[in-house]
Amino acid sequence: MSPVTALGHAKINLALGVGPLRADGFHELDTIFQSLDIHDRVTVTPVDGPPGVRRLTVAGLGADAVPTDRTNLAWRAAELVLGDLTGVPAVDIHIEKGIPTAGGMAGGSADAAAALRATAEVLRVVTGTGSSEAQLLEHARALGSDVPFTLLGGTRRGTGRGELLEEIPATRTRHWALAFNRRGLSTPEVFRTLDAMRVGAGCVASGDTSELLAALLADAGPEEIAPLLSNDLGAPALRLSPGLAEILRVGESAGALAGIVSGSGPTCGFLCADAVTAREVGGAVAGACCDIRMTATATGPAPGAQLVPR
Ligand code: ATP
Repeated sequence: MSPVTALGHAKINLALGVGPLRADGFHELDTIFQSLDIHDRVTVTPVDGPPGVRRLTVAGLGADAVPTDRTNLAWRAAELVLGDLTGVPAVDIHIEKGIPTAGGMAGGSADAAAALRATAEVLRVVTGTGSSEAQLLEHARALGSDVPFTLLGGTRRGTGRGELLEEIPATRTRHWALAFNRRGLSTPEVFRTLDAMRVGAGCVASGDTSELLAALLADAGPEEIAPLLSNDLGAPALRLSPGLAEILRVGESAGALAGIVSGSGPTCGFLCADAVTAREVGGAVAGACCDIRMTATATGPAPGAQLVPR
């Protein structure tokens, strides 16, 4: 059987409200996710050997920072799909990274979602047993907070720890410039910094997504959307990585309608009026900011994880 490839798309949080820390160690979130047309390619190949994942390799953007053992989310995703069914194949997994690692764009989650779809397809062909969408979603929830969204894509509101999803029928194309940093930020450390800042300030106020939600549902233009973008993790990401302030300033003065930290950072996303402005903003940021590894343009919404037709 030939290899099966699936694409996993990056996400940006158009709004990210972080509530108090829950007893289970997660924060209560109210977020609006949008998938972007920046992706990783995950290829699953049936090979000879005992059932399960035999080997995982990674190439592409920031590949040296990605684990190649069982701690890789794509490996765990494939194992969940293969489960302990009889007659399952051994597989090799190869990931071609296009999403920055530890960049606040859910790269690992996107790989997990793509691995779920590709492994399910391998299993269907080899054993004739398919996985239902409900089973894949259940695996996605078990793998991590952002995996259900990266499986489904589009524009969705996420509550709980981000895994309870509600589709937002907002299909208007949004144009982004993205600035990828040389160094990543640890998501748990950004949350811990937010908690510490809130103790210092004596409050746990969380951002409100309702105005943005209404604007998206009304198909509002980018000028109306821009002032409604928000991210409670922006301040702690800036505390940990102060150079982000200059990147945001340069992008906004180069013509972006708004600059935000993407998720837990340090990637910065700039909402622009159109594709031409997005290219100009990316060029200005790349030229002026030395912490930047590279810039890219992207549009959203993009689909969820999907098989590449063979
Ligand atoms: P999020 O936005 O979901 O908080 P992120 O985009 O900031 O995540 P990831 O790129 O998912 O961060 O990487 C976070 C950590 O997860 C990495 O430092 C790496 O050790 C680990 N990891 C596990 N699997 C993968 C993978 N397939 N790709 C990238 N990192 C992975």
